[in-house]
Amino acid sequence: MGGIYIHVPFCLSRCIYCDFYSTTFDVEWKSQYVSSLMREMASRRGELSGACAHTLYIGGGTPSQLPPEMLLQIFQGVKENFSLADGAEVTIEVNPDDVTPAWLDALQDTPVNRISVGVQSLNDDILRFLHRRHDARGALDAIDLLQSRGYQNISIDLIYGLPGQSFEMWQKDLRQVLSLQVAHLSSYSLQYEEGTRLMSMLKSGQVCEADEELSLAMYEYLMDAAASAGMHHYEISNFCQPGMHSRHNSSYWHQLPYLGLGPGAHSYDGKRLRRWNSSDLKAYVQAAQDVPHEEETLSDDELYDEFIMTRLRTCEGVPLGELSQVRRDYCLRMAQPHLESGKMEQKDNCLRLTRSGIFVSDDLMSDLMC
Ligand code: SF4
Repeated sequence: MGGIYIHVPFCLSRCIYCDFYSTTFDVEWKSQYVSSLMREMASRRGELSGACAHTLYIGGGTPSQLPPEMLLQIFQGVKENFSLADGAEVTIEVNPDDVTPAWLDALQDTPVNRISVGVQSLNDDILRFLHRRHDARGALDAIDLLQSRGYQNISIDLIYGLPGQSFEMWQKDLRQVLSLQVAHLSSYSLQYEEGTRLMSMLKSGQVCEADEELSLAMYEYLMDAAASAGMHHYEISNFCQPGMHSRHNSSYWHQLPYLGLGPGAHSYDGKRLRRWNSSDLKAYVQAAQDVPHEEETLSDDELYDEFIMTRLRTCEGVPLGELSQVRRDYCLRMAQPHLESGKMEQKDNCLRLTRSGIFVSDDLMSDLMC
């Protein structure tokens, strides 16, 4: 099983919290990007070893900022260079502002069957503060339009722990989002990333981080509200209706191979090799042959650490049977205090976070790593 990720590095404007690689370059760059992407697909078509891709994820950046003809060109390139399995999950990330009837008409000619909508908040003051392009009405209209066009597999992204966001505001956002009965919800607490405008505002004292107790209360409410809406909490920050988990993101958490195309995209061969394309659109379009990239071969210790970090995020937990005897003994020894304190549990030969452990998941992961 393999997945393909395509990074579309364009945004119309920058949101103040975002450190994903994207540029606000104009349309001329978009066509050069698509040509280079075609070249990269052709040169790396052998990397999935002839296996069918079970997932295709077009992320960014803002893929919905690509004109429909360029999107169609990308899907044509995928078709010519790779084979998608029957029933493959094909996701595209969209900004609510870009979801228009005309754009959806174009999407009908593609294999897209899952839409991830960057809503982030349904509070207009917060959306303006974050420099999002849409307002709450725009986000709700986009979901409504997608649903009226028959898209069942819709995912919404939300952020909590935002400056100026009260618990009541978060409750209101969540209630509204859950009432939309979408298949999937990804919800992250706000991170202050180096190099972002938000981080500069934090450093200069213009904003302050949300109180830890408030963030925890928001997360707790998220877990309860999602459960009441029938959603399954299958990864620390991800919830879904039964059977509607993101198959693409789940493959990252289960060390399955994926091929990342486009500037800044990461790839993994499912064994030891990681590769990442340089986050530089100009270098990407100017590369005559091989796309500028770096790679690393993971050591046994690094492989073990990644296994712990990713598996412990999931509801299945760390499958102890997949570890060597030595690693298993180490892992269980490190986990012992947390098993005793009730922050972890061992069930069906798997080590999992409990509800109290999930609040301190970063600490628990690092305790189990070597
Ligand atoms: S959050 Fe999305 S739309 Fe905003 S700058 Fe980042 S990639 Fe672009």
